[in-house]
Amino acid sequence: MYIIGVSKNDKYSEDWANNSAALSECLCHWFEKSKRELPWRAGDTTPWGIFISEIMLQQTTVPTALPYWHRFMDRFPTPQSMATTSEDEILAMWSGLGYYRRARNLRKAAQLMCESFGGDVPCTFEDIQALPGVGRYTAGAVASFAFNLPVPIVEANTARALARIGAITNISNDSELWEFAKALLPKDNPRLHNYAIMELGAIVCKPTEPLCSQCPIAQFCKAKAQNLVASIPPPKKAVEKLAIHYLAVAIQNGDKWLLRRIPTNEWHAGMMEFPKVEMNVTGMKSTKKNASQSKALKQLSEQLHMDCCRKAVYRKTVKYVVTNHSITLEVWMAQTDTQSIRMNREQEGLFWIATDELDKYPYGSAMRRIILTIIKEAKENR
Ligand code: SF4
Repeated sequence: MYIIGVSKNDKYSEDWANNSAALSECLCHWFEKSKRELPWRAGDTTPWGIFISEIMLQQTTVPTALPYWHRFMDRFPTPQSMATTSEDEILAMWSGLGYYRRARNLRKAAQLMCESFGGDVPCTFEDIQALPGVGRYTAGAVASFAFNLPVPIVEANTARALARIGAITNISNDSELWEFAKALLPKDNPRLHNYAIMELGAIVCKPTEPLCSQCPIAQFCKAKAQNLVASIPPPKKAVEKLAIHYLAVAIQNGDKWLLRRIPTNEWHAGMMEFPKVEMNVTGMKSTKKNASQSKALKQLSEQLHMDCCRKAVYRKTVKYVVTNHSITLEVWMAQTDTQSIRMNREQEGLFWIATDELDKYPYGSAMRRIILTIIKEAKENR
């Protein structure tokens, strides 16, 4: 069996020719004894279950992904079951995981599997990599975990472990890490080796204070031998987050709420939210902030052609982070009883949704928290 992408001249293959097999053996032996039991690693997990887990884990930790994975596997046990489901339902189930493009791409990938691969996950690295939302790492992980193909993987945990094992100081140099990962990959049972090195990075070779004294491959680790562990990878510089302040109004009309479908050029495109506007309140004292709030409510009132926004009352503020932005969202409440505005204004992306239907729509996590509070309160007040 040959390792995909490895040539005889690879720098690390020669350097590690004498040690790679012994290293892999120690690593795999340790993994068999020490691994965390994860459902997508169970012997009866289908390639589809592995595929979903890898898409979820792209930006999400294992503990957060676990309940989502179970819910998705219950609702979508096969690519066919997802391919025929509405995007809204999938996004609603994904709510809280963030990076919603992953959910849209997952559905598109399921559709492609049905159209071109008989309803199964394709079984070659190239075909997996051609699916929407799949990069080199995810394709390698699925090829290796689902089909035991000899493909290396490099993601955050393996990148850190590999850099330390090989004393690769320039961790941002992706190609060095991929080359090294290929050099260490054994020809037999690459699945086990890849699982093991990921697990090592996750639970032993941790970002800070790695557990070198418990490390099964400490004798091979160049960073340890050269006293470089603390400097690989180099400490990250703190990036200052950009502050953004929004004001949203939850407008109630009888048992219905006005929601806006977020357009494609904004964060959380395709999700629903209460209509909102951005406010500039940076460094403002409270009197000026009050004026800014009144201005924002007037702006919403004009945009929506709904005077009730001017009489809205403050309800709560939530704070959250999106990429490198720190977001503050003020939520205000308003009521209207005008019968003529009960109709949806779909061309403007505006919909009146009944309280009992609210939880069927997709929201970003902060907006979802607000919606759930509103559903609870509305039901209590019935
Ligand atoms: S010895 Fe320490 S730094 Fe090296 S691989 Fe093991 S845990 Fe990581």
